[in-house]
Amino acid sequence: MRSGKLYWPNTLLKSLARPARQAPQRSPSTRNMQRSLLRLAACAGLFASLCFPSALRSQAASAASFVMVIHGGAGTILRSSMTPEMEKAYIDTLTIALRTGYQILSRGGTSLDAVEAAIRVMEDCPLFNAGKGAVFTANGVNELDASIMDGKTLNAGAVAAVEHVRNPISLARLVMEKSPHVMMVGSGAEEFAKTQGVKLVPPYYFWTDRRWRAYEREKAREDSGKTGAAPDVDKKFGTVGAVALDRAGNLAAGTSTGGTDMKRYGRVGDSPIIGAGTYANNLSCAVSGTGDGEFFIRNNVAADICARVRYSGVSLQQAADDVVMKELVAQNGGGGVIAMDRKGNIATPFNTPGMYRAWVTSDGTITVKIYGD
Ligand code: ASP
Repeated sequence: MRSGKLYWPNTLLKSLARPARQAPQRSPSTRNMQRSLLRLAACAGLFASLCFPSALRSQAASAASFVMVIHGGAGTILRSSMTPEMEKAYIDTLTIALRTGYQILSRGGTSLDAVEAAIRVMEDCPLFNAGKGAVFTANGVNELDASIMDGKTLNAGAVAAVEHVRNPISLARLVMEKSPHVMMVGSGAEEFAKTQGVKLVPPYYFWTDRRWRAYEREKAREDSGKTGAAPDVDKKFGTVGAVALDRAGNLAAGTSTGGTDMKRYGRVGDSPIIGAGTYANNLSCAVSGTGDGEFFIRNNVAADICARVRYSGVSLQQAADDVVMKELVAQNGGGGVIAMDRKGNIATPFNTPGMYRAWVTSDGTITVKIYGD
């Protein structure tokens, strides 16, 4: 599924120049931001009404209790640092992404297609640290990682440190389906992209004022030697992911990210590593993670949750809680996961203050959550 483009208004990019916390007085740029967000909301509403004319409830898949869960990253996400406009923009985008995947599933499409399509929506939105909204590395560039896995065949594809690929999740899928490999990185992955007809984008496609300002702040902090100071609240969140179960009973998972703020010299996180940030197996579950990638890699988080479900017979919730709320917490590893088992049970534990997350049940009911409560 590589069609269905969504374009985000340029005005939204400008609006994101302003930090989430706003002065009580309404300056002209605040009004601009509000207008931009209203436009985004209107765009979201129009898109939804065009694409989902009938009630989702009537299209619900019957086999599973839940068919799809998505996340937009875990981290220091607090009500106190969010404006109502930003909150609405996140909720609207998560809803569009979820509905895009749900629509595919409700028509009998595959979980792989649904996962890829939902992640593409979030990659194209500057709100998230993936695709368009990726954070900057210490060198002031954007390096993107993504992976996808098919729970039926255990086929998987991943790309890391790509700098010119608009939708890394789709390139990961091409690696899975059109190459004999599982993972390709950097310029090699981009060479492969060209052979597959993927149009590369210039680096400035990924430039957003909001992320650049965060980079400049962090760079100034590092240059002044105050690296022990409190990190930017934007740090380490915004990675996106999806897990889904289709009508045929097949699970899939995918994750896409710009990595961590100020990452260095070819650093690769957990998101493109099969088993760490992404895993799917029809015999157990599908998982996508977000958080401190190094801890997810060391603990093989996604695969470990699935192994616990498969071999020790614990529930999905128990397995996910044990890994995220016990193992990771004991090591000071921040983050969360979205997980779905083969019966459609879901778990969304996170040990950070918040995690953007949303899911749809078999009757078409959509739930979107952001904070810890
Ligand atoms: N897990 C990602 C990484 O370490 C970051 C994130 O989830 O926000 O690259």
